[in-house]
Parts: sequence; C-alpha cells; structure tokens
Amino acid sequence: MFTDTHSHIHFAKEFPDIEKILERSQKAEVTRQIIVGCTPKDSYEALEFVKKYSEQDFYSTLGVHPHHANELTHEVLERFEKLAQNEAKIVAIGEIGLDYFRNLQPPEAQKQAFRLQLQLAKKLNLTAVVHVREAWEDALQILGEEKNLQVVLHCFSADLAIAKKCWERGYYTSFSGVVTYPKNEYLREVAKNAPQDKMLIETDCPYLTPQTYRGQRNEPAFVVETAKKLAEVRGVDLDLIAEETTLNAQKAFSLATL
Ligand SMILES: [Zn+2]
Repeated sequence: MFTDTHSHIHFAKEFPDIEKILERSQKAEVTRQIIVGCTPKDSYEALEFVKKYSEQDFYSTLGVHPHHANELTHEVLERFEKLAQNEAKIVAIGEIGLDYFRNLQPPEAQKQAFRLQLQLAKKLNLTAVVHVREAWEDALQILGEEKNLQVVLHCFSADLAIAKKCWERGYYTSFSGVVTYPKNEYLREVAKNAPQDKMLIETDCPYLTPQTYRGQRNEPAFVVETAKKLAEVRGVDLDLIAEETTLNAQKAFSLATL
C-alpha cells in the first residue's frame, strides 16, 4: 500500500468525480491520505471531507499557506487550537512556510505567519507540514529557532546540500511528481541519497502531475509514479519503497499502526 502524504482531494471544484477517484486510489493501493488545508476556510473543508469519508483512512491538517499569510488572525489561531484538541483526525499544522517565488504576501508577513503556526504545532505536539520555495535560508533559520521536532518538507525541491542539512535535523523530505520530470536530475540525486527513514511520497493533487500523466489533473492514484521513480533511482523494488514510505508517514504524522 501507499500513503499520499499531501493531497487536496477535498477541492470540490477540481474533483467533481470524487467517487471514481477514490475507486482508482483503492485499486492502486493508495489507501491512506493526508488531506492538507491552505487557508482557514479550506482547512475546515478538509476536516469536513475527512469526516464525511470516515470509512476511509484519511487525516487532515489545519494551516495557512504563505500565499494567504494575511488570513492568519488571532481568532484563526484560537480556532485551529480548539479544533486540533477535539478532532483526532487532525494530524498536522500545514501547509505553512515561505514562498519568495510568487511573493504574494510581503516576506515579513509570511515569516510572522510561519512562526506563529510553528509555535502552535509545537504547543499541540503536532507535525508541521512546510512549503518552501526560493526561501531556504530564511526557512531553515526560522525552523532552527522554533525547534519543531516533527517537520515534513512537502514537495521538496531544493538541492542535495540543503537536503543534507534537513536530514541532519531529522526532517522528512517528501517527493512529489516533480521528481519524475526529465529536467529535474538534481532532485533524483536527492531521492537517491535520502535516508530510507526520511523519505515520503505525495501527489499535491490536483497539481504537479507526474510525467506519465502530464497534462491531466493529478490524483492520489498517481503517487505510485513517484514511488516508481524512487525505486528506479535507488535501485530497489517498488514494494520496498511502498513499505518504507508508508512506515515513514506513519511515524511522521503519528498515525495508527497498520
Ligand atoms: Zn499543497
């Protein structure tokens, strides 16, 4: 089986055919998912989705993405805290972080929202799901200062030197469909060198469709393509990657043992 550690399958507009998608995930043995929120509203919808599909092995997160840093108010932080204390399905704070590539919010506002949510994660003893784009220096500095122990670097896209710093600190690096793109040899180098207990797989669906299906909407079943690429670059069987990444996800998000 496989765990998609970062999915946005609760986006109703992008996934009107949700039942078919769930069927395909089951068939592909992608049976566990972490469903990630990007804004307050989106986070509450992720939780509602997980509760609606309670027979599935789904979990959700609460977080405000750096693109929406201005939406992180005091009231939101309080509501996140209460929800996390009362809902067992909430397993992380995310996605949070810094994005200086699109820079939709001023860097200072991004940093402030990132810190406050890292502090909330620590207080609640929850994992932080972190998005970093062209902001590694600041992100590593803040993560170092806030000292969160459980950190998942979602859609990891930095080079091997940065990856090594992250692994030294015990962070998980999560690989997405981007690792299958022909031009991303540097990422395959990271995937090849990742400690077996620090790698995760994700789709980030509906975005970042793996090469085989490029041009289509991404969906959880396609996480197998990323796992196949990991198996190829590491010279191991797909079964082993499935087993290792599932166990790592279980640890990274403190999920029930399968
Ligand atoms: Zn995402």
